[in-house]
Amino acid sequence: MGARCHVFRTASLLVAAALLASCGGEDPGPPRIVASTARVPFHLSTCNRVNRIPEDKLVEFEDRDGALEAGHEPCLMCRP
Ligand SMILES: [Zn+2]
Repeated sequence: MGARCHVFRTASLLVAAALLASCGGEDPGPPRIVASTARVPFHLSTCNRVNRIPEDKLVEFEDRDGALEAGHEPCLMCRP
């Protein structure tokens, strides 16, 4: 029975992945990591402070490690 359950779980994960992939650009997905090139803190893209970053200074990182390596520190408001 155990093996059977595992197969079912794997199958449902594949379905979920396919559904996510089929959403294309419509789904905003999980928050991204963004920062201003002029400021130290980096934010979740959902943070209110992101709205104040001018578009020409807005940079996006693959993950928080990338932002840390670029010399940014986590925002205290959104705690990315
Ligand atoms: Zn923030």
